[in-house]
Amino acid sequence: MPALTLHKLAVFGVGLIGGSFAAALRAAGLVHRVAGVGRSRDNLERAAALGLIDEIAEDAATALDGSDLALVAVPVRQTEAVLERIGAHLPPACVVTDAGSTKQDVVAAARRTLGPRAAQFVPGHPIAGAELSGAQAAAPTLFRDRLVVLTPLPETEPRACAVVEAAWRGCGARPVQMTPQRHDQVFGAVSHLPHALAFALVHMLAERADAQELFAFAGAGFRDFTRIAGSSPEMWRDICLANRDALGVEIAAFQRSLAALAAHLERGDAQAVERLFEAARAARRRPPPGVE
Ligand code: NAD
Repeated sequence: MPALTLHKLAVFGVGLIGGSFAAALRAAGLVHRVAGVGRSRDNLERAAALGLIDEIAEDAATALDGSDLALVAVPVRQTEAVLERIGAHLPPACVVTDAGSTKQDVVAAARRTLGPRAAQFVPGHPIAGAELSGAQAAAPTLFRDRLVVLTPLPETEPRACAVVEAAWRGCGARPVQMTPQRHDQVFGAVSHLPHALAFALVHMLAERADAQELFAFAGAGFRDFTRIAGSSPEMWRDICLANRDALGVEIAAFQRSLAALAAHLERGDAQAVERLFEAARAARRRPPPGVE
């Protein structure tokens, strides 16, 4: 693995993920200068005040000037517009990566906007995060001991992959590779479905006339199950729409599973209910298998 020292990093979207990436590389002494580009001036000024970025760049050309790496960490439906701006000013030596939670849409956007420069692009997704947003939520330790899924394109330059892998390793994370299709299936099941369920459950209860009373009595189980419904609605709108095919398959599977449980309950079938809960508990308690 090549040693990595970045002269300049350009971060498009200095929120939880973009800010944490900059903070982690800075803490590791792997970057000299960080430029931030964003949609909200307040957030960029906060990022500068927190020391996450050295400069607020007014446009992509300024941010990319002299950069050897650019990270796109915006809600996924913004990615195409941002890549388009990057494509117009991308220096030949600069590698581009992203942090979006969906990958097939990002790969398609990169092909549409970057053309031959897509070879400089390495799609990525750090498996770390929180229900918090914005530069103020960034932390240099966010990616420590976490996986980062990279879904390189057939045309991605090996050098570009090596730079992005080294950067994530510098953040304390472990890069692994997957196809964009498999990525979206896997995260449709273990991330996008649970977020959709948490939002739907809280919404269903909040719409009821007795919502105030229900929430007043909701305990630790409810808080644990629904913590992620406190996540950014814009971010999750984009993820759910971008991965709607895979998410639709998982929602249908979940509906069948819930219908089976409801049928066991209706029949008063204690054995079937216990068998289901026992199998789920065993799966939940088993240490997760390692990823090679
Ligand atoms: P965030 O809301 O904290 O930050 C996103 C930032 O992007 C904001 O500062 C916003 O102002 C900026 N932005 C929005 N549109 C922009 C545009 N067109 N140009 C420039 N900046 C723009 O969100 P986040 O949690 O950092 O998520 C960023 C990306 O990382 C998303 O694609 C998300 O899917 C992905 N991701 C999030 C998590 C998580 O748990 N939060 C985990 C892994 C990956």
